[in-house]
Amino acid sequence: MTEMKSIAPHGLGRGCVITRRACFSASHRYWLPELSTDDNAARFGPCALAPGHGHNYELIVSMAGELDSDGMVLNLSEVKHAIRHEVTGQLDFRFLNEAWPEFDVSTPSGCLPTTEAIVRVIWQRLSPHLPITALRLYEQPGLWADYLGHPMDAYLTIRTHFAAAHRLARPELSQEENEAIYGKCARPHGHGHNYLVDVTVRGPIDPRTGMVCDLSALQRLVDDLVVEPFDHTFLNKDVPFFADCVPTAENIALHIADRLTTPIKAIGAHLHKVRLQESPNNAAEVYAETPQLEMVPASLETAAAV
Ligand SMILES: [Zn+2]
Ligand SMILES: [Zn+2]
Repeated sequence: MTEMKSIAPHGLGRGCVITRRACFSASHRYWLPELSTDDNAARFGPCALAPGHGHNYELIVSMAGELDSDGMVLNLSEVKHAIRHEVTGQLDFRFLNEAWPEFDVSTPSGCLPTTEAIVRVIWQRLSPHLPITALRLYEQPGLWADYLGHPMDAYLTIRTHFAAAHRLARPELSQEENEAIYGKCARPHGHGHNYLVDVTVRGPIDPRTGMVCDLSALQRLVDDLVVEPFDHTFLNKDVPFFADCVPTAENIALHIADRLTTPIKAIGAHLHKVRLQESPNNAAEVYAETPQLEMVPASLETAAAV
């Protein structure tokens, strides 16, 4: 005879954050009727071309709650259903400008379906159904927006990369002393990395363009101030700043933040974060504003497929 064992509800009532990923493919076009054809083209570049273009979007939904007696914060099939019913089922294979009235720019309250505008509207539509704590929407692996529910704040991140060599050593120390601190990274002729740089800006979403800032202006700044001067260089020798500053991942990230803070302010946004990934095994993050405040929940990072 087998004995029936009742299992104690281990986590009952304890808090937990859960994450769900969902995808949809959709098209959009950046075109405002109050602007001329030339002005639309100047403002939005190829994104203004008719009839539009598309992306494979990836949505990451973080939710928080307490465990029930089944050991779950929420029933995942209900989460899946809510996301499909409220979001992906309405957007998949659609033209975003026409899918939701929020993106109907023929009305004065409509705004363009940019990544940051879409993620905010998804929050508004999904939050009555799920206890969301954070949303991330990838337009592509190198461009995503985060929204944490603050109506006037969205976070936009662009990812870029550069290849560079460096040597970690303090000039006042002997080779032995440097190797004791920096290990192989202190070898005299340097070594290289393919660096990934994520630059996150924060700001209110423009009610008409749907943008935190002009994306191509931001991309230009990162290209001109980071990629162009750093790519295919020996950082210690070719970038004057690193003549007297050891180019650790931390120092490089801080220097990138220092270079970008003021120019990003000039295009109407705030630099929020710089993340520099040196290798698959190490990365450095610096917060340009209040240190470590308003950190995007790490659950978003772990669920990211890229
Ligand atoms: Zn697009
Ligand atoms: Zn290195």
